[in-house]
Amino acid sequence: MKAAIYPGSFDPVTYGHLDIIRRASEIFDELTVSVLNNKTKTPLFSVEERVKMLEEATRDLPNVTIDSFSGLLIDYAARKDIHVAIRGLRAITDFEYELQIAQTNRKFSDGKLDTVFLTTSLEYAYLSSSTVKEIASFNGDISECVPDFVGRLLYEKYKETGAGNEQ
Ligand code: ADP
Repeated sequence: MKAAIYPGSFDPVTYGHLDIIRRASEIFDELTVSVLNNKTKTPLFSVEERVKMLEEATRDLPNVTIDSFSGLLIDYAARKDIHVAIRGLRAITDFEYELQIAQTNRKFSDGKLDTVFLTTSLEYAYLSSSTVKEIASFNGDISECVPDFVGRLLYEKYKETGAGNEQ
């Protein structure tokens, strides 16, 4: 049984993430998508909200489980006895950062956690959670970026916090 973890902020989940999730779920027997509770970032959505959105968006994928974690990915992966991390690559700029993290994780886990990269589907290469938040904060059209229910939650959030206040 081959299992993998796809860690990330998912603030919020986009069609780019969902494309990676679907493709990884076809390669691995079990995929855990895990929301990182990163105390150094100020997310728009709470961890609980992000977990709920991912659960809703991956309902049709029976081998995908949603979870969350704090601290080091290598410790979390060891607790779950999972040895592969999935990351998505959009552009060369992602690569430099991701390469460093992947090598660090491999070294500090004594080779127990390796990273598998999936390259973005071209139609999502431009897509990031930050772009989506920026467009939504100005009431722009994000229907091609996120599922409708995520879009509604984004607009609601910006109504609460004030449109145009992108962080
Ligand atoms: P991070 O975990 O770096 O804060 P995200 O939660 O936004 O970032 O993304 C999690 C993972 O998904 C990263 O590996 C990122 O490169 C990848 N990813 C994000 N958007 C896309 C996309 N449009 N296509 C492919 N991969 C993506």
